[in-house]
Amino acid sequence: MEKKFRKIGVLTSGGDAPGMNAAVRAVTRAALSRGVEVMGIIGGYRGLIHDEMINLKARNVSNIINRGGTFLYSDRCLEFKTEEGMQRAIEVCKKHEIDGIVAIGGDGTFRGATDLSVRGIPTIGIPGTIDNDITATETTIGFDTAMNTVLQMVDRLRDTCESHARCNVVEVMGRGAGDIALNTAMALGAVAVVIPEVAFDEEACMAKIRRLREDGKRSFLVIVSEGVEKFAPGLAKRIEEQTGVETKYACLAHVVRGGDPTLADRVLATKLGVAAVDQLLAGKSNLVLCQNNSQVVAVDILYSQCLDRYYKGTLKDGMLEKFSADEKAAMEKVIAEKKEEFRKYYAMVNDLAQ
Ligand code: ADP
Repeated sequence: MEKKFRKIGVLTSGGDAPGMNAAVRAVTRAALSRGVEVMGIIGGYRGLIHDEMINLKARNVSNIINRGGTFLYSDRCLEFKTEEGMQRAIEVCKKHEIDGIVAIGGDGTFRGATDLSVRGIPTIGIPGTIDNDITATETTIGFDTAMNTVLQMVDRLRDTCESHARCNVVEVMGRGAGDIALNTAMALGAVAVVIPEVAFDEEACMAKIRRLREDGKRSFLVIVSEGVEKFAPGLAKRIEEQTGVETKYACLAHVVRGGDPTLADRVLATKLGVAAVDQLLAGKSNLVLCQNNSQVVAVDILYSQCLDRYYKGTLKDGMLEKFSADEKAAMEKVIAEKKEEFRKYYAMVNDLAQ
């Protein structure tokens, strides 16, 4: 028989992302409208272990849809990865009679969610990370806002580059994923982009800058993903040495993680938040809510994690064995399409004649 939900918990965990507040609001309002109480767990899994939570009423989530960061705060909690920490979290859930949890975060957060659900606490994940590194979904909450922030910041650099006839090499966040770098490079008309997914042709980049400078172009932008570690400062130096164009290096760092969420992120957060409550109250667990082809879909968390590992080439022995031939084929199709997209857009940005 289906379990009757009386109370759920919601938490934000791992790296924060604009739109997390909008997701918490949607989860809270959707649950309350169905007569289910909501506990807002403070500071991610740490709050669950240390029993730090507040009973959320509609008024607590008023006026937060527009705010960056997360009013529930976030944390990285190593204690939660231990059996002892996990057991304390389960005890706290029992004490508060929490029937299920919505966990908003990235892949680490989903691993924690799986651990909770195998110990009897139904858990649903919502992808909240600026990095867009959850392969099962086309877009994560915070990704759009982060890209728009990069756009605003680098447009400012462009102004001063043009005045002084300079090049600016800009490192942008994204952890191991080049999604932010690739998309913003395209939107900024960057002369080159460096991402972890595709080998960078530095010689071609230098030749292109020299050719364009001879043709009278004054300013140049190069976007580098932080996933290509410790690369951007050296590249800036080499561009100056090898092309004669004065070159500055900038790292946008955590600036990209803050700020008011865009319309796209607020809408995504709202849709996924409501869908998460629907799934939990329908008795489902161990799912991550995704948006593909403009449709919200629920994907098995283990499938999502395996897909990520398959994509990154970090699968462990036997991981794929849990999945059917059709599921494996579906994973391979998604991976092939994503890789092809990266290859195509990398070539587009780096080869565009200006
Ligand atoms: P993100 O969710 O953005 O990927 P992290 O990787 O830092 O961020 O993970 C967020 C939190 O999720 C961690 O601090 C930890 O509490 C929990 N977590 C991560 N990995 C695991 C794991 N393997 N088992 C249990 N909990 C985990």
